Amino acid sequence: MPATTSQILAFIQAAQAAINANAEEVTALDQAIGDGDHITNVQRGLSVLEGLAGDLGALDWSAALQKMGMSVMSTVGGASGSLYGTFFLALAKAFKGRDMSLESFAEAFGLAVEAMKQRGKSDLGEKTMLDVLIPVAEALKAGAAQGLDLSQVLENINAVAATGCESTRDMVPTKGRASFLGERAKGCIDAGARTSQLMIGAVGGVLAGY
Ligand code: ADP
Ligand code: MG
Repeated sequence: MPATTSQILAFIQAAQAAINANAEEVTALDQAIGDGDHITNVQRGLSVLEGLAGDLGALDWSAALQKMGMSVMSTVGGASGSLYGTFFLALAKAFKGRDMSLESFAEAFGLAVEAMKQRGKSDLGEKTMLDVLIPVAEALKAGAAQGLDLSQVLENINAVAATGCESTRDMVPTKGRASFLGERAKGCIDAGARTSQLMIGAVGGVLAGY
């Protein structure tokens, strides 16, 4: 099944709504332990994707994701721009010649998160977006392997994303700008973890309606 513009737009606009509704919180988090621009980077990325959506209809998923990754990579700044760019490009690679299904998506998402880990030279427990994305990748794979209903998988994803985001609060950052603060960054959740959780929840909400 090819990507359709309306599907892609629905995902992007849901993510934008969730990000915009929580913009103040995200900015406060990134101002506390980062440089405060994370929300702008995420919003720029989403508007770039929104502008691109019209060109993506009727492309297969791999080609659509490839275009999304290239645009994010070349137009969004910060660590998050290159990490999300990497994510979409790796999804594109994983979907070459494959149809969209829960199984194929779970596998592709896992590979894309692996690519982000390599790009960021980072892993679970370093107080980054990966503390949300890695558990979500695992929940997706487990759900697909166990043959769970989509609604159950989405519920599990929301739960692990919330726990993963909250888990960053007591972590000492070892990657990205927050790492300069060391122990002083304890007590604040990571902005990138929060925006990942928000976007995953929003995309899941759209899928739940299908
Ligand atoms: P920058 O830190 O370059 O200003 P952003 O503010 O857009 O970029 O993004 C910051 C977020 O990126 C952090 O909150 C964290 O979640 C994530 N991040 C930063 N460095 C890494 C890394 N090496 N690996 C994974 N995630 C990272
Ligand atoms: Mg920043």
